[in-house]
Amino acid sequence: MLLGAVADDLTGATDLALTLSRGGMRTVQVVGVPEKPLDLPEADAVVLALKSRTIPAGEAVAQSRAAAQILQAAGARQIIFKYCSTFDSTPDGNIGPVADALLDLLDAPLTIACPAFPTNKRTIYQGHLFVGDQLLSDSPMKDHPLTPMRDANLVRVLAQQTSHKVGLVSYATVTSGVAAIKAAYEKAIADGIRHLIVDAVTDADLHNIGAASADLALITGGSGIALGLPENFRRQGLLQPTTTAAAFTAPAGRPVILAGSCSAMTRQQVATAQAAGIDSLRIDPLAIVEKKLTASTVADWVLTHSSADKPALVYSSADPAEVLVVQQRLGRTEAGELVEKLLGEVAASLAAQGFTRFLIAGGETSGAVVAALGVTALEIGPEIDPGVPWTKSLIGRPLALALKSGNFGAPDFFLKAWKMLS
Ligand code: ADP
Repeated sequence: MLLGAVADDLTGATDLALTLSRGGMRTVQVVGVPEKPLDLPEADAVVLALKSRTIPAGEAVAQSRAAAQILQAAGARQIIFKYCSTFDSTPDGNIGPVADALLDLLDAPLTIACPAFPTNKRTIYQGHLFVGDQLLSDSPMKDHPLTPMRDANLVRVLAQQTSHKVGLVSYATVTSGVAAIKAAYEKAIADGIRHLIVDAVTDADLHNIGAASADLALITGGSGIALGLPENFRRQGLLQPTTTAAAFTAPAGRPVILAGSCSAMTRQQVATAQAAGIDSLRIDPLAIVEKKLTASTVADWVLTHSSADKPALVYSSADPAEVLVVQQRLGRTEAGELVEKLLGEVAASLAAQGFTRFLIAGGETSGAVVAALGVTALEIGPEIDPGVPWTKSLIGRPLALALKSGNFGAPDFFLKAWKMLS
């Protein structure tokens, strides 16, 4: 094993695993810190998915350390800490505290923070994160149910999450090439800087940043930061040329779509699926509290509204005003957990009744559903849209899972994903 990654959510882990496997690394995704050694296929990279984005910082640190230690023990020469390309976090963390803890663990002086993902229109210029042509703070991320992002200046955002110095490698330096980026790292170490936000606008920038980061023990960022890393190992003769990947076969069984993401793109995908005639059931968190809606009534509804070649859609996705009303009644975390728990129970019930193909929208939601399904490791299959592949459970019951981060995918994602499964 060459590269180990700790991801703060499941869809992010899948996104990174996809980038690494497309870069020619045999990549396996592990779900959660395993309690006992897993019987995994041989891999160049292992991505360990946590659900630590919004848990208390102390817990996120403990889990991330444990995950990194397992990866180190398995031989990882470099660790990536993967978070969202929209830098989802709060002033308490968890990006800063986890990055600090991993630097301590690896006894490293410096890391970089680069969430850029140009293919999905996340770019960083002068330390400011853009989503398309909007600053992060003007984008729909300002209304995220759990991690509203109201400041686009990542140097400032990260500085609130760590007691160490945060610096910037500006775009002028990045475009000057690998040697200039490396020199910026050296200078930062000399200046006592521990975290460097690195500007990146194109994939070519990310390849150069990857090349410049070959000697960093810890790299933090979005999946884009992994673009240039396989080449570092190839250059050292450590990575064998890829053989043709085995064909991805999905298990036979019924399909379902479960959407717990309230992101703008997921809401559009819900509307597109409804307009195309997919039967849908809306979950109102207040109805769960009032016990008007239970996992078994929802699962029963799915059973009667779907068939082998037509999924049904269950969604709690709501616009920011509706989410606010629910959160004021139930609390932000409580509302989120309530929906996640219900969707997890629905998935488990459906799996027990012969459903094998799950499309889940939402990072936190995917984490909850996959945990409820008891999936511990995943293989990466074909890419549906940038950053979102089909995956298949590696251990236990065979399940095909498309785990979609809220804002990822085209509007017709819920329709076209199924066409890739035979
Ligand atoms: P994304 O990938 O879009 O960030 P997540 O699943 O990570 O989606 O996060 C969405 C959060 O919002 C989850 O915790 C989910 O349970 C919660 N949620 C979903 N629907 C509602 C709703 N109607 N009201 C309040 N919270 C909700």
